[in-house]
Amino acid sequence: MSVHSDENCIFCKIASGKIPSKKIAENDEVIAFHDIAPKAPVHFLVLPKTHVTDIMAMDAKLMGACLAMIQSIAGFRVINNCGANAGQTVMHAHFHVISGKMLGFE
Ligand code: AMP
Ligand code: ZN
Repeated sequence: MSVHSDENCIFCKIASGKIPSKKIAENDEVIAFHDIAPKAPVHFLVLPKTHVTDIMAMDAKLMGACLAMIQSIAGFRVINNCGANAGQTVMHAHFHVISGKMLGFE
């Protein structure tokens, strides 16, 4: 599969190995690495290696590839911020996976 990269995107640079990350898992389409500013004892990000701005731009296959990687890990809450109004700050689609403490829903 071909990976489209945006030279100004920090997650593209992580996905291609140009900047380091604490990587958890990786396959041809998807990468998972620890969030640099964890909001829970366990907090990592799962994203497609190809540059897509948000989940609205992801097709079902890519969505499935991300969720399959999340599914292989277990015990978690999944969050996606889609668009600036929803709090998305890095404009490369990603799922937050958080765990490791009792989670409220406020
Ligand atoms: P969002 O607000 O949904 O766009 O989340 C972006 C997330 O990316 C935040 O939780 C940041 O802490 C995280 N983040 C930003 N830069 C890096 C980085 N270089 N390595 C790992 N996580 C990062
Ligand atoms: Zn990107």
